[in-house]
Amino acid sequence: MQNPFENALKQLDRAAALQTFNPDFLLRMRQPNREIQISIPVKMDNGELRIFTGYRVQHNNACGPYKGGIRYHAETNIDEVRALALWMAIKCSVVGIPMGGGKGGVTVDPKTLSVGELERLTRGWTKAMSDVIGSEKDVPAPDVNTTPREMDWIADEYQKATQDPKYKAVVTGKTIPAGGSLGRGTATGDGGYFVFEGLREKLNVSKDACTVVVQGFGNAGHQMAELFFQNGYKVVGLSDSKGGIYNPEGLDVRAVDEHKKNNGSVQNFPGAQNVTNAELLELECVVLVPAALENQFFADNASRVKAKAILEVANGPTTPEADEVFKSRGIPVVPDVLANAGGVTVSCFEWEQNLKDEVWTEEQVGEKLRSTMQAALDAVWNKKMALNCTVREAAFIVAMERIEKAMIA
Ligand code: GLU
Repeated sequence: MQNPFENALKQLDRAAALQTFNPDFLLRMRQPNREIQISIPVKMDNGELRIFTGYRVQHNNACGPYKGGIRYHAETNIDEVRALALWMAIKCSVVGIPMGGGKGGVTVDPKTLSVGELERLTRGWTKAMSDVIGSEKDVPAPDVNTTPREMDWIADEYQKATQDPKYKAVVTGKTIPAGGSLGRGTATGDGGYFVFEGLREKLNVSKDACTVVVQGFGNAGHQMAELFFQNGYKVVGLSDSKGGIYNPEGLDVRAVDEHKKNNGSVQNFPGAQNVTNAELLELECVVLVPAALENQFFADNASRVKAKAILEVANGPTTPEADEVFKSRGIPVVPDVLANAGGVTVSCFEWEQNLKDEVWTEEQVGEKLRSTMQAALDAVWNKKMALNCTVREAAFIVAMERIEKAMIA
């Protein structure tokens, strides 16, 4: 398995090689400001005590409080969280929100825990982190396998531990009654879709010709697939963690959703051909949307990708070796730090509403998200054209210019 933090540093270095940055700034960007690792004792339902390992990495807060999700996954480790924290710092600055970069996680397969065990685990993480997080310090959010339910537990536990009157703004992605923002649940997919529409125009591909494949049927992948379907795009491939399906004539995404609800997987969908997740990435399509986990494209399979463009809705799906292959093959890769920034953008709106005690309508949130994503894509695309570099390099440069300015200020 590749080390995601080393990959993130390679991305940083590639961008830094294209433009002059202050060397002290670059040195600071290569190391997180702070890393916290904790042991979380959890009394399991059977009375046994288990100790889980939890993390928070605070990468950079020059532009605002550290910001980023918490991930529950059996493979989560400090290097992954470090990479994700660095990407959050870049991501927040790509979209120009007043937030820095952080990330958290717990090494756990949440599917093996009961709801009560998950609640005790989440409250344990929060209690141990209660002096580390805060509305002006560090604001967590959902990520892989964490949902508004976990965010509500965090807000509640943090309030108990600190009595902070601004406790609602300590975490985003909460349920609406607990102070969540309208539109946050679908924000990552919605933002990805706005970027997709902008990309399609920049690449001059007609709507009818623009077939898509989506890898992953979690929060973001599911919403992207739904929006493609709703807007009349032909979705030819879909997958979840168990495997994928392909139909060159197009899939009825809502029927696939129903099928998954009844059968636990998208596979064996009537009229479609089963494919593995690896095969899915090599299907004939115009835009390929990896929306699952990191490290999906390597030098080897990148040379076999048939898509005309890639939109990274997952964090870190493309290794630096694969990036080189895509670059030489002229396949634009719209990077995670832009393509999936819709989630943290609406998180920032939620944080703002909580701090000001306001409630914005779904339309207000949607409109602000659309204009933020469009402006970010335009800024990155202009940089790409000016420097004749990849979209990822351009996105890193746009973000690094903003962070450097904030650090010097
Ligand atoms: N986990 C999401 C991400 O990777 C959202 C983070 C947030 O809302 O703070 O961007």
